[in-house]
Amino acid sequence: GAAPLGHSVIPIANKLQDIFAQLGSSSTIELPQVAVVGSQSSGKSSVLEALVGRDFLPRGSEICTRRPLVLQLLQTKRKPDGGDEEYGEFLHLPGRKFYDFSEIRREIQAETDREAGGNKGVSDKQIRLKIFSPNVLDITLVDLPGITKVPVGDQPTDIEARIRTMIMSYIKLPSCLILAVTPANSDLANSDALQIAGNADPDGNRTIGVITKLDIMDRGTDARNLLLGKVIPLRLGYVAVVNRSQEDIMLNRSIKDALVAEEKFFRSRPVYNGLADRCGVPQLAKKLNQILVQHIKTVLPGLKSRISSALVTVAKEHASYGEITESKAGQGALLLNILSKYSEAFSSMVEGKNEEMSTS
Ligand code: GDP
Ligand code: MG
Repeated sequence: GAAPLGHSVIPIANKLQDIFAQLGSSSTIELPQVAVVGSQSSGKSSVLEALVGRDFLPRGSEICTRRPLVLQLLQTKRKPDGGDEEYGEFLHLPGRKFYDFSEIRREIQAETDREAGGNKGVSDKQIRLKIFSPNVLDITLVDLPGITKVPVGDQPTDIEARIRTMIMSYIKLPSCLILAVTPANSDLANSDALQIAGNADPDGNRTIGVITKLDIMDRGTDARNLLLGKVIPLRLGYVAVVNRSQEDIMLNRSIKDALVAEEKFFRSRPVYNGLADRCGVPQLAKKLNQILVQHIKTVLPGLKSRISSALVTVAKEHASYGEITESKAGQGALLLNILSKYSEAFSSMVEGKNEEMSTS
């Protein structure tokens, strides 16, 4: 499946991993986590799913996400025969591989019920799911329960406070990128997402505003001013998306079709002319990728110096080979060559020339 998130970052991250492997170390760049916050049914799970490009999260008009889902994407090596095997594995079911993504969704639901009961209960105990795929970036995404105000089912009377505390425990971490999700058919000034994100990240350095449900706005209204930051400014700005409706979910409409429909939606509305960089899931992925590349750039100097000192060591070793066999010297030269090639790639990345590094 197409995975828009991480497309331009994957080659950079892979190169870094290769270098560390050459140096005999597995340590590499730790990318920030990405968490979604907002009111219940604002479209948080839908946004995450669209970013991953696969259908596997419980979504719906009632409370669905009742435990934090920590979703670790892990890149696997592409098979020579082209079989792009993608599968999921839960921490609570070690060794069991889920190749069918709708089964993953059923297991998330079943495991939610096991811990939080079948009657709308909420628990802060995580569900941990790893998705292995050749098409993903190594990154962790967190789907969180939405903010609700009135207890229903088995929920305690202080449900709102509990959920807020749970959300804060994730998004207060300085390394967490926050997707603050607000539906376009509600007032931005009432946004739970912006409110809680503002508490966790008052300077707005790591909060992206995501506006959902543009397709069901009140007739005669649009999100143009909002996207322009004229309603509530946000440092990293806003991106508008159109996810699948409840009817689309019931009709089993695919993510691919939904992306096509989304593109058509924005293209056919003159009011969003000139805002193409703020409209659609692919733009959201792009924005996230840019932030991730920026993050890599800021940690690069430290990595570079580690690589340089490793280079010096290799060079010394190489010089001391003396009479050691040809093949050993050849290996040393080869390694040096690889490292200096990567060093060049680094330099140009640091200078900001390679934001759109292609896979080729
Ligand atoms: P969450 O509770 O924030 O995780 O929200 P979900 O992703 O579960 O979505 C809640 C409901 O809103 C589901 O029925 C979705 O189909 C619907 N929904 C989400 N985003 C959109 C959107 O952009 N347009 C429309 N029409 N419905 C949406
Ligand atoms: Mg959800």
